[in-house]
Amino acid sequence: MKKVIIVGAGFGGLTAAKILSRFDLDITIIDKTNHFVFQPLLYQVATTALSPADIAIPIRSVFSEFKNVEVLLGEVKLIDKEKKKVMFNGSELEFDYLIIATGSNHSYFGKDDWEKFAPGLKTMNDALKIREMILLSLETAEKESDPVMRQKYLNFVIIGGGPTGVELAGAISEIVIDNIIHDFRNITTSMTEVYLIEALPKILPSYPDKLSSHALEDLKKLRVEVILNEKVSEINERGIKVGDRFIESSNVLWAAGNQASPLIKTLGTETDKTGRAIVRNDLSIKEDENIFVIGDAASFKNEKDEFFPAIAPVAMQQGKYVAKIISRNLSGKSRKKFKYNDKGTMATIGKAKAVGVVKGVKLWGLIAWLAWSFIHILYLIGFRNKLRVMAEWIWYYITNRPGIRLIVKYANDTLTKI
Ligand SMILES: Cc1cc2nc3c(=O)[nH]c(=O)nc-3n(C[C@H](O)[C@H](O)[C@H](O)COP(=O)(O)OP(=O)(O)OC[C@H]3O[C@@H](n4cnc5c(N)ncnc54)[C@H](O)[C@@H]3O)c2cc1C
Repeated sequence: MKKVIIVGAGFGGLTAAKILSRFDLDITIIDKTNHFVFQPLLYQVATTALSPADIAIPIRSVFSEFKNVEVLLGEVKLIDKEKKKVMFNGSELEFDYLIIATGSNHSYFGKDDWEKFAPGLKTMNDALKIREMILLSLETAEKESDPVMRQKYLNFVIIGGGPTGVELAGAISEIVIDNIIHDFRNITTSMTEVYLIEALPKILPSYPDKLSSHALEDLKKLRVEVILNEKVSEINERGIKVGDRFIESSNVLWAAGNQASPLIKTLGTETDKTGRAIVRNDLSIKEDENIFVIGDAASFKNEKDEFFPAIAPVAMQQGKYVAKIISRNLSGKSRKKFKYNDKGTMATIGKAKAVGVVKGVKLWGLIAWLAWSFIHILYLIGFRNKLRVMAEWIWYYITNRPGIRLIVKYANDTLTKI
């Protein structure tokens, strides 16, 4: 049997593995976490609307019925494309076909020291850290009697006005500030500020102008102050500098930049300026037609010379395409060019509001939000997760009471911090 190694079981890797598992192939999946996470709903874990298990599933459990699929936990550090080997936890694994689907990390545009003051949201760990950071801030503000000192804990700053930044700003304003805060005695909604900062002239820069304007209006209704055309020049433990203004905040979140996972560098193939591998029309690297890079880790342009967006449908369709090549053992010449079927993109702004383009049709408001909810439930993996998320949303929609507000991981730090 041919050996296939898949590095990364996110949207792209998992899709490829699910298809390939039905063929006579020896498949090894390696991931540095033991779970697949549905990243589009991470912001709801970070803002206490959902619980981690609602949007994650153990990779091993997806393949429990498939004896030809082995799942290994660990981080691949090096790929030797000449020897066709993957270096992993001190051992080497050989492959006939390799699929690299390692996604992307945050990019702080060379200011890596900002990360400790402004965490980004990519993994479940990030979401849990952010959640505790927000909950801790509210607890600290509740105990602080000096209004100047207290304000730092009640200012929320989100840097980056793309979909993740917009969704975080809306959810913090609505879930954290409008709802959770009512359980406190000394702090109120009117004491809080939420800022969304975008360096470009509009939020959701990749969306049509009309939808960006709708999103802006919706955020304003949620009392989010949107700062456009301004770059953040400093982030430290006190807060951030934007233009000539300094905003004191202990809640700074980064949603501004991405770069490919560092593993891509070790491939020794050509990369673009964000570190993604430049792949050919069949998503293979130019040095080897049986090494594929897919999803956020790949740099690939469409007919109009535009990069494909870093979104889940692109990764999933690429996973499916590559699986087809491998399962049919197609060689370079018989491979058709990868074509993306663009079904659209969506972003939500709090409860019952969203914007999106679906099959070329612009949607906003409640209709967009219903479409957004339906699509997200549909693509969640596992019936139990679909049911749980739906139940949580209905409960929250009716009661306005998000449930998951535990501070546990940093309990000791909490005592010294407050
Ligand atoms: C907060 C957030 C919100 C988003 N919202 C949306 C949305 O609404 N709609 C949408 O379409 N897209 C959205 N996206 C983008 C979408 O999630 C990504 O485009 C998609 O996950 C990319 O899939 P992938 O397979 O390339 O990588 P990922 O899904 O990121 O998977 C990468 C996997 O590789 C593993 N890995 C990484 N490095 C290694 C290594 N060295 N060794 C072993 N394993 C490794 C990781 O643990 C992970 O499991 C969002 C992303 C984020 C972060």
